[in-house]
Amino acid sequence: MGMEINLLQAGKGDCILARCGTGIKKVNILIDSGMSQDYFVKALSRIAGNNEKIDLLIFTHDDNDHIKGATNLLKKMNQKSDGDKYASLNTSLGLGKKSTKDCNKLLKELTDERILFNFGGYGTETLLGVTEAKQLFESFNELSIQKLAFVLADAEGEMNVPYPNMLQLKWKIAGNDLQSNIIWQPNSEELETETEDEHLEIVILSPRKQALVDYIHGAWEKQQKKDVPLKAEKKKRQNEWGKSIQHWLWNMAEKKDKLTDANQASIAFLIIYGQHCGLFAGDASPEDMVSAGRMYLTRKKIKQDYMDVDFIKLPHHGSSHNASREFFEFFRTKTFFVTTEGYTQYRHPGKVTLALIASALGNKETADIYSSYSWWKDNTEFCRSEKSAGNWSMCGELCTLKDVDGTVKYLRFHKVGTDLVPIGKDIYVKN
Ligand SMILES: [Zn+2]
Ligand SMILES: [Zn+2]
Repeated sequence: MGMEINLLQAGKGDCILARCGTGIKKVNILIDSGMSQDYFVKALSRIAGNNEKIDLLIFTHDDNDHIKGATNLLKKMNQKSDGDKYASLNTSLGLGKKSTKDCNKLLKELTDERILFNFGGYGTETLLGVTEAKQLFESFNELSIQKLAFVLADAEGEMNVPYPNMLQLKWKIAGNDLQSNIIWQPNSEELETETEDEHLEIVILSPRKQALVDYIHGAWEKQQKKDVPLKAEKKKRQNEWGKSIQHWLWNMAEKKDKLTDANQASIAFLIIYGQHCGLFAGDASPEDMVSAGRMYLTRKKIKQDYMDVDFIKLPHHGSSHNASREFFEFFRTKTFFVTTEGYTQYRHPGKVTLALIASALGNKETADIYSSYSWWKDNTEFCRSEKSAGNWSMCGELCTLKDVDGTVKYLRFHKVGTDLVPIGKDIYVKN
């Protein structure tokens, strides 16, 4: 098996486990923890159940739906002395003793070069950040991970890596852009089995240096003005779910709301493994990912203005504020993952996003949309306008769309289950 993507059910948030490898033991890249500790525990138990370790833990950004699960679990683990710890976890999580011990062990095995987080502090003295990030940082420290450095890059764009043989990070700054890539170098033991096909590379596409700087400064200012209530700017948003995907395809208006600083500073990256390439977009900005993608092609001396990828984990749960025509034209694929339960308050995924995906298809082509929840048929608000547009198949899983130029496009929706389903050559998905 080449690549196995576990799109764990994580409510409206992200908790994804990417497993790569052809041998018995796989490389595990765990991305975000979701909002609840239950999601994070499930991911950890799965790794422990396979008798493997976390090779890389990535917290894409400082938003609850991506990191709160980890914060909560760590807080619980730190609350009690060792003896009570497992007992309290067992009850609160409904887990066996073994699972909770496994979680603790997996997290304790982590060292700084195994954790990426775009959080602007190297240590407690320089700790900047809003509540969740700070708590997560402190909880890891309490778990006696001594050498923890929670960084993707600091404001200077430089980073010291203590074990360059295992994980090499390279940073380059061009103008306002932070270009970075991480080249995975397995240790000598693992090298013996490594072949050309097993080369694994992680290419960071976001955040830009300036986005990271803005985020850190914003967080700093918030800390200074503790007494000033910080109200999120409330804008009256157009309800995209009130109209059908077909409607948006014909009345395309790309959404251009400014992203929050936290999302703008989200980590997004490509996992390139052998012949496979997947884009994990966090909640990042589509423009930033495209420009980093272009820089990557230039660096690799590849003369083309697009990248073929096997799949895209859509940025920001499919929000149309993180989608653009340019993004879907640059990162070419017909396979998409949407991490949301179809949360009504935010109306993720946006129907404009789905229309943009359809728009990028050729005549009679199909895009496959995978999610761990079946919001396209369960959420009445999402469905109502689709049903009245009359372009859904009987089973409610195929949406037939007519584009403005008369071409026909299909969107096929799949609920990811507990069995592995092939989504490409040697790529599988499950929840
Ligand atoms: Zn976010
Ligand atoms: Zn999010």
